[in-house]
Amino acid sequence: MLGYRLRLLLCFVITAAVVLQAPELGDGPTLAKPAVERDRYGIEKERYHHFTHEIQKNETLSSILRTFGVTHTQINQVSSAGAGLVNFQSLRVGSELLAYTNAAGVTPLFVYRTTPGEYALFDFRDTVAVYVGQLQEKVTTKTVRGSISQSLYRSLDEAGADEATGGLTSTLERILPISFYSLQPNDSFVVVYQERRSDGLVTGAEVLAVRFQHSGEDYFVFGFKRENAPHASMEYYDEQGAAMQHQFLPVPVQYARYRISSRFQRRRFHPVYKRHMDHLGTDYAAPHGTPIIATADGTVIEAGRTGGNGKWVKIKHNDTYATGYLHMSEILVKRGQRVRQGDIIGRVGSTGVATGPHVCYRFWKSGHQVDPTKLNMPRATPIQPHEKEAFIAQADALRPKLWFDPLDCNEADPDCPLPYAGTDRPLSLPHPATSPGTDGHRLLSQSATPQGEF
Ligand SMILES: [Zn+2]
Repeated sequence: MLGYRLRLLLCFVITAAVVLQAPELGDGPTLAKPAVERDRYGIEKERYHHFTHEIQKNETLSSILRTFGVTHTQINQVSSAGAGLVNFQSLRVGSELLAYTNAAGVTPLFVYRTTPGEYALFDFRDTVAVYVGQLQEKVTTKTVRGSISQSLYRSLDEAGADEATGGLTSTLERILPISFYSLQPNDSFVVVYQERRSDGLVTGAEVLAVRFQHSGEDYFVFGFKRENAPHASMEYYDEQGAAMQHQFLPVPVQYARYRISSRFQRRRFHPVYKRHMDHLGTDYAAPHGTPIIATADGTVIEAGRTGGNGKWVKIKHNDTYATGYLHMSEILVKRGQRVRQGDIIGRVGSTGVATGPHVCYRFWKSGHQVDPTKLNMPRATPIQPHEKEAFIAQADALRPKLWFDPLDCNEADPDCPLPYAGTDRPLSLPHPATSPGTDGHRLLSQSATPQGEF
């Protein structure tokens, strides 16, 4: 669910760090051609040495490029070549810009890390060109187990989810049929998820299966990609294949770091205009820069700046529904772009008429603005008969990982994840419900499954 999809001018996916040339055929002694070694962005290591610059506050792309001798004309050319692909106006503070210098002291190549998993390559060697690519990611399946201490977020973090905690929390909040205000100290969870890392940084975490015990009741949720495409979004179902998700996400910001600062209401006292006006949205106050996500699949029909709305995006989902996201500090999509549910489309800000950083979330039904919290939202489609077999097979493969305690199973059972040989096996281990917070770190089942398409 992470990552907005860039419209790629040219997709430049690095498939191997080292490109080896095929040895020459023929008899007699042959001289193998030396391998051309390339870095992760495909740049020949021998021809360039690079300098890494960490982007500082208030720096612009042109101010940085100028220090490397790039001319004004070239900067204008790169800005128009990369328009819509790279946000030149606001660079990501703290992210990297790599400058590649050749033996003659000329610096014709720059790589800017637009997101942890994506980059833009500016090439001034011939004609000015901009390439956008994704970094190869390492995919690992992980399991975290624990019980609720204070909040779901805190408990997942304590259980070892680390940087994946935010993403897992927001997924669990939307796929479990539980009110997260009613969690109890003895509630326990097992979450199996796939973590994607690039360059040591977590770029995504996708939940595969969940077992959640709440008030003594067990809830199982399994992820399944309905279309067999690598980039199809994960959807969630109960054991019977009924959809757990609604067509719309309840909240348009990522992470549980928001509060509702103003609800949809007719005639509210407006804090800026100092008079009573209709407030046709729900305001989610969140720290400046918090990712704003598309609440459902759709097409971007507005992405720009207008007076009171500030920087805003409007998405058309189908003939009935559309949503709007106002006061962004940064827009990360452009008009006409297709987005999936959960894609990051912008960042929280306070552009336009706003007293502080928040996103004003607007919801249209048949052209009228309505309060989505008052609507009976449609559920997503259940597993269809022709998908049932694949769904069950996948759920059955994940089920053995959903033990609250991996040692708490019969070692004769082939599904038992950790057969334990020896006499020192504890006869019975405390269930997490009776010893909260201690089981999380202990055992993680992990398997590295590098996937070609990333
Ligand atoms: Zn508002």
